[in-house]
Amino acid sequence: MRCTAVHPLLVGYRDGELSPGEAVRVREHLDGCRPCAELDDALMAATPEPFLPTPTVGAEDELRLSRALDDVRVAPPEMHHPLFDIDASRVWTHVAWAAALLLCIGWGWSNYQHAAMLQAQLDAAPAQNETVLDEAGFRPASWAPSESGSEPGE
Ligand SMILES: [Zn+2]
Repeated sequence: MRCTAVHPLLVGYRDGELSPGEAVRVREHLDGCRPCAELDDALMAATPEPFLPTPTVGAEDELRLSRALDDVRVAPPEMHHPLFDIDASRVWTHVAWAAALLLCIGWGWSNYQHAAMLQAQLDAAPAQNETVLDEAGFRPASWAPSESGSEPGE
């Protein structure tokens, strides 16, 4: 690498802006070329230290910052699942729906229990409506097509 090619790269080399390959070539050239190494030292000496303003934070600002951080820490983690994405202002709507659902389930369960109780009473009660006909209760039909003519009353 020639000196004239190295000179424009010196600032970028010190700022870490060169590609790794360029940086290696500049480093090797500086190790072997005294004038360029002196120019690099002169550039480093002339470059001022980076100015970093010291923050001036008052006690009031620190308190506000501390409170803001506390708020952030206290806030619960957000749940993005639709089931958990309940707006706090609509929570009573959800409570009302849940109560209505419970009422429906309770009503159905109550009806089932009542029907089961009635069925059990019916099963336990003695049979009252069964009419058992004995043989003597039957008599032949007054008209039988096989015994008489085709018309009744003949
Ligand atoms: Zn050189």
